[in-house]
Parts: sequence; C-alpha cells; structure tokens
Amino acid sequence: MSPPEVPWKKHDRIEAADTKLQEILAEAERLIEDRSPQSHDEVDLLRQEIELLRQSSTECKRAEEALGGHLKIVQLLSASATHLLEPLPENEVFEYTARQLHMIAGNAIVVVSDYDPTTNQTTVRAVAGPEQKLQRELALLGRSLVGLAFTVAEGTLSIVVPGNLARVGGGLYDLSFRQLPETVCREIEQKLDLGEVYVMPFVQGEDYMGSVAIITDRNEGLINRGEIELLVNQAGLALKRNRAEAALKEYADRLKRSNEDLERFAYVSSHDLQEPLRTIVTFTQLLERRYKGQMDKDADEYIGFIVEAGTRMQTLINDLLDFSRVSTRGGAFAIVDTEALLDQTLANLQTKIEDSGAEITRDPLPRVKADPSQLVQVFQNLIGNAIKFRREGVQPRIHLSARRTNGMVQFSVADNGIGIDPQYLGRIFVIFQRLHGRDKYPGTGIGLAITKRIVERHGGRIWAESEPGTGSIFYFTIPA
Ligand code: ADP
Repeated sequence: MSPPEVPWKKHDRIEAADTKLQEILAEAERLIEDRSPQSHDEVDLLRQEIELLRQSSTECKRAEEALGGHLKIVQLLSASATHLLEPLPENEVFEYTARQLHMIAGNAIVVVSDYDPTTNQTTVRAVAGPEQKLQRELALLGRSLVGLAFTVAEGTLSIVVPGNLARVGGGLYDLSFRQLPETVCREIEQKLDLGEVYVMPFVQGEDYMGSVAIITDRNEGLINRGEIELLVNQAGLALKRNRAEAALKEYADRLKRSNEDLERFAYVSSHDLQEPLRTIVTFTQLLERRYKGQMDKDADEYIGFIVEAGTRMQTLINDLLDFSRVSTRGGAFAIVDTEALLDQTLANLQTKIEDSGAEITRDPLPRVKADPSQLVQVFQNLIGNAIKFRREGVQPRIHLSARRTNGMVQFSVADNGIGIDPQYLGRIFVIFQRLHGRDKYPGTGIGLAITKRIVERHGGRIWAESEPGTGSIFYFTIPA
C-alpha cells in the first residue's frame, strides 16, 4: 500500500563539473610549480586564487546538498499528501505517518498515539526510528511501545497547542512511561541518548484525537519544524476523514438494517393480521345475512359499520403488503421497451379510460433498464390518478413524454385535472396520505408511496409540479 520511498539523486552534472574543476585546479598548481615563475609573490597570489576557487566550489556543493535535503522533504510531503488522500485503514494512517515523520526528523524516534475519550486513554499505535535505537529500546523495555496505553495526566494536554508542535519538558517520561518509575525512564533516556520531546496533537474541531511525539537525539535539535507540522496536519485530516467515513458507513449500515427490520415487520404483521381480520369480516357478514331485520335498526347499522371497517382494513393491509413487496418481491432488471409496457398499462386501464373518455397521447418512448412489471405499476398508478383526479365536465387529456438526462431517462405524465396545492406536493408520496375524503375520490393513499418506492429501487427519483385547477405533471427518472 505504501508508496516507494522518494530517492534523492545528486545532480550528476554538478558533480561532474566539480570533479572537473578540482582537476583543473590541481593541473594549475602543477603548472605553477613547473614553470618556476619570476616572483614568489605572483605564485602566492595564484595559490590564493586557487584556494578561493576551491572554497567556493565546496560552498556550492554544500548549498547543493542543502537544496537536495529540502527537495527530498518536498517530495516526501507531496508523496504523503497523495497517499493520505487515499482511503486507508486507520492503522496504515498511523504507521505511515510515523515512518514519514521519522524520515523528515532525521534521527528522531517518532511515536504516534490514538486517544480514546471514553476511557481517557492514549494508546501508542505506531513507532518509527533508527533501527538500532528501536532494538535497544526493545531490549531495555522488554516490549515494544506499540500497544502501550497510558492516561494523559491532567494539564499535560494544555501545553500541546492544536496545530502546533510543542516542546514538552521531561523527555520520554512525560510522554509514555508515566507508569514506569522515573529512574527507569531516565535510564532509558540516557542509554538511548534521547534529547527533547515535541508533541503535536491531531485535533478534530475541538476534539483531541491523538498525538504525534518526536523524540530527538540528545545532540540534535529539531530542525524541520514546519515540515513536521505540515505532515501531522495532513495525517490529522486523513484521520478525520477516515473517521467521518467510518461513522457514515456505520450509519448507512444501521439504516439499512433498520429498514430491513421494518420491512420484515410490515410484511409479517400485515400477513398475520389478514387471518383474524378475515374471520371477523366473514362472521359479521354471516350475522348480517342471517339476522338482518330480526334485531333492531341500530343493530343492523352497527353490523354494517363493522363489515365496512373490516373490509377497509383488509384493503389497507393488502396495500401495506404490496408496499413491502416492492423491495422483497421485486423482479430482475432488464432492458425493456417502454412503448410496449405502456400499451400493456393502457390495456389494464381500458375500462377506466373508456368510462372517463380520457385521451392519452405520447411522444416516442425509449428503452430503459427496469423491472418490467414494476414499471407497468408506476405507469398504471400515475395514469390511473390522472384519470381519477380529473376536473368535472372537462375531458381528461394525459400526455406522456421522456427525455434523456445524465444517464437516466426522465419520464413525465401530464394531466389537465384538478391539480395539487403546491404546499402538499411533498406529502402526497407519503404512505396513506391523501388530500381528499374517500367519499369524493376512492383510494387509500398508497399508490404514490408504492410508485416512489419502485422508482427509488431503480435508483431514480420522483416529484410533481402542479397548478391547482389546471393540471399536474409527475416526473420520474429510471436508468437509461
Ligand atoms: P390515492 O390515489 O389512493 O388517494 P395516491 O398515493 O395515489 O393515493 O395519491 C395521493 C394523493 O395525491 C391523492 O389522494 C391526491 O390527493 C393526490 N394526487 C395524486 N395524483 C394526482 C393527480 N394526478 N392530480 C391531482 N391530485 C393527485
């Protein structure tokens, strides 16, 4: 997973030029000797000039080395910026950060830790450093620092400024070994020749997520502060993104699970409710048939209420079952000819079309990738509604069209019916939500909820526009 280490190559041309210069200077010196010039002063002067040339060549080389060092760090930082942009497992972020920081900070040991606010514990997740030192440390401690958990003492964090590399006094002791006796810590510091400790926290907003500690060599201070801060900030961002993604994934998984549970619940409960309800309705109907007119008028009326309510409940339960079947019993997707599906839909609606005198027109309709029987259901619900919610005394005119957009086909079903008050446009897709009484327009308010569910199962979207008293247009998208 980790990218190759960035090599720093000396500039060959500079190296060659320098070797050449040294050769020329040596040659010049020899010539001066050979030609035994007139005065000693002249020889001295020439020698001084040769010496000056040598010095400036050395300075040039040093500048080149320094430039090389900077370039190496720039390359390293740019490589880590790219690498840390990838979705990495959290452990890799810690380990990679430790390795890269160690390369930037030279001889330092780098300890990357993770903070858990629920336990108030900091756990070392990655350590990088010179191999020899790490081996000695292992021998002295008897274990690796990785996995070591410790509680950050109060006040320690306050000196660690967010986004800033801060020196914490007391060396290793303050960092990781609070649980070891101070004498042991001092001994380790001494034997490993450890110098100062710098710490920089990973922060997410106000929250402290963990820290990076750079333990320098006794004889070397920390040189590349800016670069270290840059890298730690990069790693902090990667960690933050990583955690946000993990939280989002967990949320999505939980949502999916609870959706499945709900679906199962809706299916099982509506399925199981059917049986006792059927008994109630059947026996009440039996009562009605056998005893109608034998009891008083109120009793007949009451029986009528029970039968009506029971039958309505049966319809609602069947609707609920249909709703839950959209995803549980959905068929496979195939490339389908929507013209043919529409013909089938119109055949299913034939009586309604004839009774209402509706005129249905269409533009050419493309092929789409869909579950054919569900797509028929979508057309049927939308055209059925367009007929049902017609204006009195106005011939229903319904027009279907389609256009391609962003890999999807956007269908529209436009009518010249009663229209919908714009403030209710969102509500009509909610299960059992209706805008009219049952006596005026029959129905349970499930049609659009099922339609929406089908469209969403196809990865599409549905919405409506309307002008009350003029008509409505329903739009939905399906993959092309
Ligand atoms: P139902 O048709 O059983 O009432 P739907 O879910 O199909 O249930 O529709 C919900 C509500 O949306 C309807 O009660 C109606 O108020 C409104 N509606 C749906 N389609 C149209 C339409 N084409 N014109 C006007 N109102 C509509």
